[in-house]
Amino acid sequence: MTTLQSFERARAHLAEQTPATPVLVLDLHVVAERLNEFTRTFPGVTCYYAVKANPQPEIVELLVRQGASFDVASTAEIDLCLAAGAAPETLSYGNPAKKARDIAYAYSRGVRLFVFDSPQELEKLAEHAPGAQVFCRIAATSAGALWPLGRKFGCPPEQAATLLRKAFDLGLVPVGISFHVGSQQLDPTSWEAPIAAAAQAFADCGLPMRLLNMGGGLPARYQGEQPPMSAYGEAILASVTRHLPDFAGELAMEPGRCLVADAGVLRTEIVLVSDERSKDRWIYLDIGRFGGLAETEGEAIRYRVSTALDGGPEGPAVLAGPTCDSADILFERAPYTLPLGLTAGDHVDILSAGAYTTSYASICFNGFTPPAVICLDLD
Ligand SMILES: *Cc1c(COP(=O)(O)O)cnc(C)c1O
Repeated sequence: MTTLQSFERARAHLAEQTPATPVLVLDLHVVAERLNEFTRTFPGVTCYYAVKANPQPEIVELLVRQGASFDVASTAEIDLCLAAGAAPETLSYGNPAKKARDIAYAYSRGVRLFVFDSPQELEKLAEHAPGAQVFCRIAATSAGALWPLGRKFGCPPEQAATLLRKAFDLGLVPVGISFHVGSQQLDPTSWEAPIAAAAQAFADCGLPMRLLNMGGGLPARYQGEQPPMSAYGEAILASVTRHLPDFAGELAMEPGRCLVADAGVLRTEIVLVSDERSKDRWIYLDIGRFGGLAETEGEAIRYRVSTALDGGPEGPAVLAGPTCDSADILFERAPYTLPLGLTAGDHVDILSAGAYTTSYASICFNGFTPPAVICLDLD
């Protein structure tokens, strides 16, 4: 099923059911197809789905059935994956800053693979997850990513070997390295430098290493051009061959966005069109920054949109959310071009909205509820 067919399927469902808006329709076919594409593009690379991209239970259940593993960041995500049928050995606790009691909880539920990026976290892991397998997250630049992850996590690569040896001294089992090059990463060569750094750390630590986790970052289809997944496969696997020609361990990635974004159509309703207050036409939608469109911050992620009036005369419009917070403006510096005939009550469909929307929605800020979710099944 192409993305277009999937959109038509979502639209047909919406026309028939007319659910209240905002509502996110998720087509599980697309998720299944994306995982297949990932598996074809990265043969032999374990897929740890980054659950934070979309924790919808139906998505996690589907990925369990298709044999994926999971990158989790909290006890709630662990519970969600286990409830969906995932085996604890398929979970990777990928948050470098964990509470001691959350580590203990994960361990009690059978999780045995944990990330760290500091000696302090290693001490906690040694105490609350004794003997567990641990991998070291190194910092990587997010240059080229539309949603950079910046400086929050990752040790300087040159510290990794020392930390891996410390893990060993603490009775943990150091297994490898991870990194994350930023989300919606548009440059397939961005993985090269951190893979080289990981290879250096492997050599320096003098311990047998069996895991290279190359994180997320594969893109979804927003406005503008994205290289195809095959371009990432070629660049990334070539870098691995170049820097770790004899590596016989596990290669892993943690795709989030690229598996789920294109599966989602977010139907919204226009609350108000105002074009006389200023030189700009303002269109207020019933969803905004706090209802799930958090990635419009800095106008970073520019979704494709569709309306029933597409094809007619168009003009610029500022898009804003429904709340009374002045930060709740979606696109103003670079307005959208939208049909001039749009009025209150019309729908605006936001495409490729399946990632980082429902998972980012706040609980009813200003009295506006986050989107409901409808899953279109595989049959
Ligand atoms: C968010 C996250 C991911 C997923 O990133 P995408 O760009 O959505 O693929 C993967 N790994 C880690 C550690 C993350 O925090």
